[in-house]
Amino acid sequence: SGRHRVAVVGGGSAGISVAARLRRAGVTDITLIEPSDTHWYQPLWTLVGGGQAPLRSSRRPEGSVIPDGVRWIRRRALAVDAGARTVTLSGGDEITYDHLVMAPGLQLDWGGVPGLAEAVGHDRVSSNYAPEYAPRTWELIRAMRSGTAVFTHPAGPLKCGGAPQKIAYLAADHWRRQKVLDRIRVILVIPDPALFKVPAWSQVLEKVATRYGIEVRLRSEMTSVDGDRRELTIADHTNGTKETVSYDLLHAVPPQSAPDWVKASPLADPASPQGFIAADRHTLQHPHHDNVFAVGDVANLPTSKTGAAVRKQAPVAAGNLLDVMDGRSPSHRYDGYTSCPLVTARDRMLLAEFDYDLRPTPTFPLIDTFKERRDMWVFKRYALPPVYWHGMLTGRL
Ligand code: FAD
Repeated sequence: SGRHRVAVVGGGSAGISVAARLRRAGVTDITLIEPSDTHWYQPLWTLVGGGQAPLRSSRRPEGSVIPDGVRWIRRRALAVDAGARTVTLSGGDEITYDHLVMAPGLQLDWGGVPGLAEAVGHDRVSSNYAPEYAPRTWELIRAMRSGTAVFTHPAGPLKCGGAPQKIAYLAADHWRRQKVLDRIRVILVIPDPALFKVPAWSQVLEKVATRYGIEVRLRSEMTSVDGDRRELTIADHTNGTKETVSYDLLHAVPPQSAPDWVKASPLADPASPQGFIAADRHTLQHPHHDNVFAVGDVANLPTSKTGAAVRKQAPVAAGNLLDVMDGRSPSHRYDGYTSCPLVTARDRMLLAEFDYDLRPTPTFPLIDTFKERRDMWVFKRYALPPVYWHGMLTGRL
């Protein structure tokens, strides 16, 4: 209830980073709307599923990451009226804002593939995309000695586009070390015509998949799963055929879209089939509402949705919001930077960093990032988490 100078919807990577930057710039009267009492560092979930990090290392109490001086309303946003400048909250209250930062992330559509919602978490089906299942991925990988393992990637935008294949490489490398890989058929189902958007990295990944003997199905999609029978259907869009495959392990990544209430809101971009929020690709400002900014996975930006992208978006959104508050036009620009740490083995990684034009934008210009590297794996496992908790979420980095 009441009037708030800045309302931030969502206390995940994006919401906390922007709120921290606004606080550092001296903005008072910031209100965060976030229903969860847990903040997750989701990039670790790949390593959780691969048996390389405990789930608890990806979790902190939400209260511990909210910047001092930010008011926390522990409710869910249900609707935004950008004309009246109000947000309706679960429980029925409404708040009024002068400026709004939309950062509620995206929604996992388990129901988007028939049978998946019923099967995930049982029937040898797991997914690193939810913390309740990620530890189970490792249990399934560890228990497997022979049979068929299928790893799927949904069509449409998803967070961390590399995550559906990284877990396949971690699993295959584990089976190789256990000397059972030759008894396991590994299938990787990818909707795109290549393993990765940027050809130079795609070529490296092709060699990685070949090294493990992974059967890569390009332009293909899982269209149904039957958990009781342990069968799934793969549609191949090249020739329009469908094939039923029996599996002993399935790592499934669900289709993803904007949260339903965002899709239904006038902030949604009519050009986005998944209902993501309209935002100028460089300023992150909403095209029809100068006082509204969208950051993180919920924004309809033509780049890959990652925490690394959020790291570059947060200073732009915060800086431009300050500009608007001071009556200036937005002066900060986001170039589409995103990064995908492609784990290719239990001790190797490729760091793919690029912008809207798919141009490589390396943080470490002197090293060869088109090679699988051990130093980059160490960087992801041990350096990035502290950078996230102490640098990014506090608005320092
Ligand atoms: P989130 O961090 O998901 O936060 C959204 C927040 O909004 C949550 O706290 C949620 O509780 C809250 N919320 C939801 N609904 C409402 C509501 N109605 N009202 C108020 N609040 C609400 N990124 C990388 O950079 N590198 C990686 O290696 C990487 N690997 C990944 C691996 C996996 C398996 C997954 C799942 C993700 C990975 N990511 C990675 C992606 C990264 O985690 C996301 O891009 C990032 O968290 C996006 O930040 P966000 O704030 O937009 O969304």
